Amino acid sequence: MANCILCSTELKFMNTPTLGAGKLNDGGVVCSSCFKKINNADPKIAFKLKNYSVDDIKSLLEGKATSDGQKKSRLDEIKKQIQDLKLSNVSSFFGRREINELPNILASTEVVDNIAQGTYNKGQGILVSTDRRLLFIDKGMLYGIKVEDFPLEKISSIQYETGLILGEIKIHTYGNIAKIENVEKSSARAFAEFVRNKLSQPKETTTTTTVSQPNILDQLEKLSKLKENGILSEEEFNEQKKKLLEKL
Ligand SMILES: [Zn+2]
Repeated sequence: MANCILCSTELKFMNTPTLGAGKLNDGGVVCSSCFKKINNADPKIAFKLKNYSVDDIKSLLEGKATSDGQKKSRLDEIKKQIQDLKLSNVSSFFGRREINELPNILASTEVVDNIAQGTYNKGQGILVSTDRRLLFIDKGMLYGIKVEDFPLEKISSIQYETGLILGEIKIHTYGNIAKIENVEKSSARAFAEFVRNKLSQPKETTTTTTVSQPNILDQLEKLSKLKENGILSEEEFNEQKKKLLEKL
């Protein structure tokens, strides 16, 4: 029998996908464990393997490896940001399922600057502050992930109340109040004060730089004058003219 086109394992009855499911369009066959990898990367491709070449499959698996790697390093980066906050209870965050979801939720340049644990709408989760918003993230065992997003510019104020041990954070947005309950007392205070402080800071004015579009007709006119005055040769003029016209 033949060998797996990807890992060169000898193909036997036991490790060959049934019903020819491991066959590629160029005649190669993949073994069951490679088939499983393809299926994990993209079930739609695994289902119609005979439409793909060995090169398609190799680039699919390589692409998957890189994107997994990128996600992993983004997670490390986010964990580092959280660690650098030097919160008293920081280690307890890393066991949370929500932390592992952050690479999928946050933008690639978004920076975590505070974090607290609590409940929102009866769901247990984490309240995250970033350079652009607050997020409540709740990853349940059964229903998947819930994310509530409060952009900083929509938050009118933030308050906290504390009891003996626990506290709550109230996020006021226009016409709405989101209550994050059961937040550890000192954490509620620290988080709310941090965000309040951030909100009171003058917004950075974003300067829009307008790139001046060179007026091509003007430039053509100048060019033709240079030619008339004998500064540019016919050939040089044509070359410059061509470049300018390409920009149109
Ligand atoms: Zn294989």
